[in-house]
Amino acid sequence: MSTASINSWCLTSVSASKRSLPALRPSVFASLNSSVSPPTLIRNQPVFAAPAPILYPPRRGEEMGKDYNEAIESLKKLLSDKEDLKTVAAAKVEQITAELQTASSSDPKAFEPVEKIKSGFIHFKKEKYDKNPGLYSELAKGQSPKFMVFACSDSRVCPSHVLDFQPGEAFVVRNVANMVPPYDQTKYAGVGPAVEYAVLHLKVEYIVVIGHSACGGIKGLMSFPYDGTTSTDFIEDWVKVCYPAKTKVLAEHANSPFPDLCTQCEKEAVNVSLGHLLTYPFVRDGLVNKTLGLKGGYYDFVKGSFELWGLEYSLSPSLSVKDVATILHWKL
Ligand SMILES: [Zn+2]
Repeated sequence: MSTASINSWCLTSVSASKRSLPALRPSVFASLNSSVSPPTLIRNQPVFAAPAPILYPPRRGEEMGKDYNEAIESLKKLLSDKEDLKTVAAAKVEQITAELQTASSSDPKAFEPVEKIKSGFIHFKKEKYDKNPGLYSELAKGQSPKFMVFACSDSRVCPSHVLDFQPGEAFVVRNVANMVPPYDQTKYAGVGPAVEYAVLHLKVEYIVVIGHSACGGIKGLMSFPYDGTTSTDFIEDWVKVCYPAKTKVLAEHANSPFPDLCTQCEKEAVNVSLGHLLTYPFVRDGLVNKTLGLKGGYYDFVKGSFELWGLEYSLSPSLSVKDVATILHWKL
């Protein structure tokens, strides 16, 4: 067990008067974001650059064929208008026709979305569903996962692959930069119900927040100026959920290269999310009653490594914010 990565997370925005409250309540941590400017007007400007190149699927043969046919028709018209170009145009028509035939033939690299989905399900049905009738008949009756997992929407970090979760083992929420916002019944409608359902109804035993390397959402958090200007409709406001992580990283690693700052923030944002989870009354009750634990994780897909840290201590009902901070080694 290690709480090293949680050490020193600074709750600087918690005021002195609130530090003496007898127990963690949503109102306490709501002040975490008090220094963050409110949402500003949205402008349609380019979103921040993604860390990985965007791959466009090759066009299908029939779409390419449409363009080729149009090109051939144009050349035929040119051929009729300009008799002296007949030889050149005829050669061009022949070349394009040959290319069209090549494109129309079965290209193993062609992206066929429907076929991909169909073959994917057939593979799952044949290799997993049909080979595990006991598991799937049990799952048909209901689910009883031990884990609730927050993971990034990034296509490279599916927790079922990275942690080999089998169907029924993890109740998963995926969003941009795997963030847990603080308790708020008026915002973040996609998160609050999931936490409530997982804790109170599914009675998961652990909530795990998993960050990852080269996270585009965290890169955005570190890049956006938050100076009243905006360049996205949703992203800036969403990743601001973990703004305290940016503040801490910039304060402690001011001279580090930008990629290193992002790596630090990817991990620190997990800690901020763990702190936010404590603002949910039913999460805190689960910790007090020793039925729930919180874990932070970090998957580095460049190194092929996974770190895990967490809150192994159970909270007692009488713990103050200061007590919790002491347990977590936070600096108040
Ligand atoms: Zn990400």
